[in-house]
Amino acid sequence: LNPEKDNFSPEEVDVEKALRPLSFDDFAGQDQVLENLSIFVEAANRRGDALDHTLFHGPPGLGKTTLAHILANELGVGIKVTSGPVLDKPGDLAGLLTNLDERDVLFIDEIHRLSPIVEEYLYSAMEDYKIDIMIESGPNARTVQIHLNPFTLIGATTRSGLLTAPMRARFGISSRLQYYSTELLSTIVQRSSEILEVPMDVDAAIEIAGRSRGTPRIANALLRRVRDFAEIKGNGTIDLAIARFGLKALNVDAHGLDEMDNKILTTIIDKFKGGPVGITTLATAVSESAETIEEVYEPFLIQQGFIMRTPRGREVTEAAYSHLGRIKGAVQGG
Ligand code: ADP
Repeated sequence: LNPEKDNFSPEEVDVEKALRPLSFDDFAGQDQVLENLSIFVEAANRRGDALDHTLFHGPPGLGKTTLAHILANELGVGIKVTSGPVLDKPGDLAGLLTNLDERDVLFIDEIHRLSPIVEEYLYSAMEDYKIDIMIESGPNARTVQIHLNPFTLIGATTRSGLLTAPMRARFGISSRLQYYSTELLSTIVQRSSEILEVPMDVDAAIEIAGRSRGTPRIANALLRRVRDFAEIKGNGTIDLAIARFGLKALNVDAHGLDEMDNKILTTIIDKFKGGPVGITTLATAVSESAETIEEVYEPFLIQQGFIMRTPRGREVTEAAYSHLGRIKGAVQGG
């Protein structure tokens, strides 16, 4: 259910991995989060303890998975990776947990989508490093308790509101990731272009960065697409003209809003007189799931000041009208 991730072909997933920073020093932005984490890691390393269980929340593509890998690197331990929807049987979880070495990291993406049974299991694992497992069945069935090595659970979620209270309470560290500034994104894009060995002008990097919805994953994806335009339509170097040409061809507008962002805004204006409109009604009107709108599109539109959340639903702002070149109150169409 991650439209940005799921659109990627296997080769692109590999490229994304190649672009992933491996240490605190490579990771741009999120200064406050990083500052705290580096202290917690250093303290855990000195004591020889496992790092406290850590939760990352925030919109997709801001670096939650990347940070989980960085934490494992900085702790000098191994990492096992899974996700809420994949981990549907307690037995699978038990298998993962019993294979963790001391201080290892278990990373669970989309942790808000764990089944209640698996979640229940995780509680005692997180709290006491113990799990009860059922052996045999029928009249011989009995549970045995297994001791686990101390480990760190790192959870990532785009919807911290959907996390149960007992789950949330078991994380000693909880960090919310923020959208990135254009400046930070342009340093990220420049670093990526060096790794991909594609020459790029600084003003082109800034142009791509400014249109990436504050999101490193999108910045890197746009870079790769613009590189194609530079190779086929230009001389291989990404300059400002090629960047603009490519971004226009990709339907990315000057604010970095994509087609769905713009569709959401125009729909609220044209069909609901600017709002307020309820999220499910809006979702039906734009043919997208309410969950994806809340998780992927809306946070950025709110952060950019194009949409407001009111008790009666979503409303567009003056900024949305001027962005779309519309006049408030004007009758559209026909
Ligand atoms: P999330 O787990 O939050 O969806 P990821 O950690 O998978 O996001 O990040 C997506 C991509 O964006 C990564 O491959 C990485 O290359 C890049 N990225 C994310 N955050 C940063 C950052 N702070 N600096 C550099 N690259 C980043």
